[in-house]
Amino acid sequence: MKCGNCGSTMVYDVARQGLVCDHCGSYKPLPKSQDDQETGQVDYDSVPHRTGSDWGSAKSLVTCKSCGAKLIIDAEHMSGMCPFCGSSVVLTLEDSDCGILPSAIIPFTITREQVEEKFYRWNKFAFWSPEKFRKGKVLGNLTPVYVPYWTFDADTKTSYQGEFGYTTGSGDSEKTNWYGRSGVVEKRIEGVCICGSRRFHDDKLLNSVISFKIGDLIAYTPEALSGMTAEKSTISMDAAMEEAKATGFKKEIINAARKDQDADDCAKISMETQYSNVKFRYVLVPVWLAGCRYGGKIYNIVASGHNWQGNCRRPVSVPKIVGFTVAFLALIFVTVFLGVVAFVLPLAFMALIAAFIIYLIMFMRTFRDQNRIEREMQDRAVE
Ligand SMILES: [Zn+2]
Ligand SMILES: [Zn+2]
Repeated sequence: MKCGNCGSTMVYDVARQGLVCDHCGSYKPLPKSQDDQETGQVDYDSVPHRTGSDWGSAKSLVTCKSCGAKLIIDAEHMSGMCPFCGSSVVLTLEDSDCGILPSAIIPFTITREQVEEKFYRWNKFAFWSPEKFRKGKVLGNLTPVYVPYWTFDADTKTSYQGEFGYTTGSGDSEKTNWYGRSGVVEKRIEGVCICGSRRFHDDKLLNSVISFKIGDLIAYTPEALSGMTAEKSTISMDAAMEEAKATGFKKEIINAARKDQDADDCAKISMETQYSNVKFRYVLVPVWLAGCRYGGKIYNIVASGHNWQGNCRRPVSVPKIVGFTVAFLALIFVTVFLGVVAFVLPLAFMALIAAFIIYLIMFMRTFRDQNRIEREMQDRAVE
């Protein structure tokens, strides 16, 4: 984005939620979100889906040599740090397109400082983690990244058959009767989400941080992406739709069929669904991400860029564990040893005194006996 005032580069500023010129400080707000359920919605069948299109400003696709992340960045903002793994200077330029143009975006509203503050507090208690995690050095790597998501809406018409359970009674007399049933159910299903990110897709921890409402979206605007990094979806739209059918849509349809039969439970459902009036959005969701390799594994700190969710996976420091285990064992040993000494010494002392007293008594008795015997012998001798 070029500044209208001086021609320099304007970059999205999270704190001010708009574009700020790095040269003259000019400010330009982002277009305001319309309260529109249709924001960013595109007809699924409107092929071609605007692939390989112009993202509104010069973008480059780069691949991290270390972890394989595919990132879309400003052509003029080549930074050397991969937000996923923290590797430096491993970005290699790739001469391919940036993929489908996003249709909606949630701009960053939470600043780096806010995330740092939050994680710094969390990490204070991360006693077993390496110091660079605990003391927040990893937070220095925090990078704003837009993570790709697909959302789908569709009218569905499903013929199903399966077993439906009806529960009667309660407590000990509770019983479920099962009946084979079939039927047809129609339902409009909205907002089935599939993560398009390579790392976030299979990582529960990373994924747990991302949640968004359709109302959070604004239509895609290149301004929100100016100076920022976006991950390219590694899942094609068709593959995402197939996944949506097997997960979110399926769940909703089974639920609708159960309600259709007025049943409490259902099982062994087989179904055939027709999808029509399918709409999709290709959404960019803001995430603060810091990655770090430790012991050959990647550990991430992740925080939402628009709500207060965050999570992190911390490594356990092997030297710390070994050090503290040794110290702990030593402490136990010393404590037990000292305890034994402390317990035994007075005993030994008392035993010694007792032995001395017994010895003294024995000695005195022997002495007395001796005296008596000697006296008797003297008496006998006198006789
Ligand atoms: Zn300017
Ligand atoms: Zn990487």
